[in-house]
Amino acid sequence: MKIEKVKKSNIPNIDFDNLNFGSVFTDHMFTCSFKKGKWVNPEIKPYQPILISPSARVFHYGQACFEGMKAFKDQNDKVWLFRPKENHDRIIKSSKRLAMPEIPEEIFMEALNVLLNLDKDWIKTGMGNSLYIRPFIFADQASLNATEANEYKFMIICAPADTYYSGEVRVKIEKSFSRASKGGVGYAKAAGNYAAQFYPTILARDEGFQQIIWTDSANHQYIEEAGTMNLFFRIGDTLLTAPISDSILDGITRKSLIEIAKKEGIKIEIRPIKVTEIIEAQKCGNLKEIFGSGTAVVVMPIIGFGYENMKYDLPKVENSFSTILKKKLNDIQYNISDDPFGWRVEA
Ligand SMILES: *Cc1c(COP(=O)(O)O)cnc(C)c1O
Repeated sequence: MKIEKVKKSNIPNIDFDNLNFGSVFTDHMFTCSFKKGKWVNPEIKPYQPILISPSARVFHYGQACFEGMKAFKDQNDKVWLFRPKENHDRIIKSSKRLAMPEIPEEIFMEALNVLLNLDKDWIKTGMGNSLYIRPFIFADQASLNATEANEYKFMIICAPADTYYSGEVRVKIEKSFSRASKGGVGYAKAAGNYAAQFYPTILARDEGFQQIIWTDSANHQYIEEAGTMNLFFRIGDTLLTAPISDSILDGITRKSLIEIAKKEGIKIEIRPIKVTEIIEAQKCGNLKEIFGSGTAVVVMPIIGFGYENMKYDLPKVENSFSTILKKKLNDIQYNISDDPFGWRVEA
């Protein structure tokens, strides 16, 4: 791998107390090209704009997918990744669905390790601080031919992150728009899945909701996910989450929380969740919590939701499942507790 280091780090110019999530990047980035059926020219160089043809297929036909992962620093300045192999497995799944080539695990992992080693001073210690890592693949072949490309770029960029503060989050249970359909690309971390959500989300925002709970595209009867987060519902003392499917993204945070909940003796059911069931539980006071899960937010409590022109508020609960699960997960990620699951990987 070719490595070109920055002459001077940009760290002194960064206000680490006021990081706007995903808008400040570390000194270095990784790039690798796919040409003539092979991944070639792996390279780490200073973070900088890239040159790309206006006819690059990604702009026209949207062949692009990505990953989101984090690195954490413990009190002894050791850097840890959280389940990185899961991210690699998933980018392979996403790439396959979008007819893009598979990035080999060796390239993915080596790039991460070299990059983290170069940019480790960007990771601050302390709960809430981390490095958000964004690997992505896109078609950079210059051609308007509407078929799959045969040239791609794989890149990794990194952004220092502090606690993700989203304010109070209310969500709208969507009844007309859909995020993903059966047989579609909902399970892939495809760039286009996000583009399709912005417009309905703007409309929801005008009604006072920050995010949407997507329901099944056929009948809008079953809860799917929040589009950047998987969802958990607590009814009484039972935690519910929908099973993954081809229209729900297989979140690594989600599956980790499921394992932790089981270990903590929290009753958890993974099964289709009807919207009417949530409304009924709310009406009789049994709906205690709703929260989202994802790498960026870890766990995001939701304080209220809307459905069919009605707005509902959730109660404040002591010892919420979301708080318990978030702490257990963070303690593993930051090397504060043991890691009985073997999820932590030293970078
Ligand atoms: C990335 C993502 C999530 C969360 O996945 P994690 O692996 O937990 O970060 C959930 N839903 C969608 C649509 C996503 O793209």
